[in-house]
Amino acid sequence: MIVLKFGGTSVGSAERIKKVATLICNDQPKLVVLSAMSGTTNILVDIANNLFKKENEEASKKINELRLQYYEVVSKLYSNRETRETVKELIDTHFDFLQSFTQDSFTIHEEKAVLAQGELISTSLLHYYLQERGVNSFLLPALQFMRIDKDLEPDHYYIKENLNRLLNDNSMQQIFITQGFICRNAFGEIDNLKRGGSDYSASLIGVALEAEEVQIWTDIDGMHNNDPRAVEKTQPIKKLSFDEAAELAYFGAKILHPSSILPAKQANIPVRLKSTLSPESEGTLITADLVGEGVKAIAAKDGISAIKINSGRMLLAYGFLRKVFELFELYKTPIDMITTSEVAVSVTIDDSSHLHKIQAELEKYGTVEVDIDQTIICVVGDFIKNEKGIAADILNKMRDIPIRMISYGGSNHNISFLINTTDKVNALRSLNELF
Ligand code: ASP
Ligand code: MG
Repeated sequence: MIVLKFGGTSVGSAERIKKVATLICNDQPKLVVLSAMSGTTNILVDIANNLFKKENEEASKKINELRLQYYEVVSKLYSNRETRETVKELIDTHFDFLQSFTQDSFTIHEEKAVLAQGELISTSLLHYYLQERGVNSFLLPALQFMRIDKDLEPDHYYIKENLNRLLNDNSMQQIFITQGFICRNAFGEIDNLKRGGSDYSASLIGVALEAEEVQIWTDIDGMHNNDPRAVEKTQPIKKLSFDEAAELAYFGAKILHPSSILPAKQANIPVRLKSTLSPESEGTLITADLVGEGVKAIAAKDGISAIKINSGRMLLAYGFLRKVFELFELYKTPIDMITTSEVAVSVTIDDSSHLHKIQAELEKYGTVEVDIDQTIICVVGDFIKNEKGIAADILNKMRDIPIRMISYGGSNHNISFLINTTDKVNALRSLNELF
């Protein structure tokens, strides 16, 4: 069994849904995971926000506009009148459900149910299209097997038991279609795996089924060795290890949700990144093997803030870093890079929503300096082990760029720099000479 996940743009129009259908119609048994059609989840988020604010008229307007967009898709996707009518009725049940909230109160639990509609609809669209073409497929409701526990972590045992039971009950089927992103929580309510979570769904499903491979299909032919927006002629990377891919997933063009690597790594399930626009290209294969040496990829992430805490109290003290980290934990703000000296520590964050509060509290410990509009440049590859001179080569390429922080040695696969965003393009171009 292989698991194929198609992202929002891959199912973003009637044409694209047809394309997906041709890609999956072969003899190989498979489970297909779909995102919502591109843009839908964003609109559903807007609708939910309107409903929270009791802007029911605005919500109702958006719901109707979206309904009409789906009618369009239905009329373009199906040639058979009967199918068209069946699917239109189905679309109506989803949109009548959404409309019902404009007449009633709206709670956080219902927000999750609103967000779930995108994936519920896209999977039905593909399923009915396959039926119309005479291809047998089975629509597998993710809400019957995908589950998170009370800590919002995937409930692997539950997923495995229920998914395998559902597949065994329908063992004659070759093509299963299910929703990415959506799940139930510990209370059995509709919930989700956070934005972009369909990749995570695919990886959890791959693990539960001990799949041969999990394929993530997007519009990009794999992870590239540099940022195509800054550098010309970037290349897809043929092979990456799970650890290298995990370093890269966080950066640049988010073609893979960072959380989706860990389950695949733990269960040793290969993950392949493929493009629906150029299905013949190999894409990127992510496995446990470490292949190739030296620099493999360069990536950048903007919108970073750096915080430096300078404190006499840090000198020869223990427990200082813990106090600093606890503050970030309190504000649920992940730290990405860290560098320390005897008297100061610098950290970076990409979520600055609590920056001011964090800064105010840190000032109890010492002087605090904040730099915004920073970029992390991450160089990924197989370093350190026995290589001499790689770090020097990399640093040499950065010689004309003012560097605010450097992180090396955290893993064998990563050297990161923090620089001003205005220097990003120059840094990426200069580092590209390493290939
Ligand atoms: N539809 C969801 C989102 O837009 C999940 C996904 O596409 O992966 O975040
Ligand atoms: Mg995505």
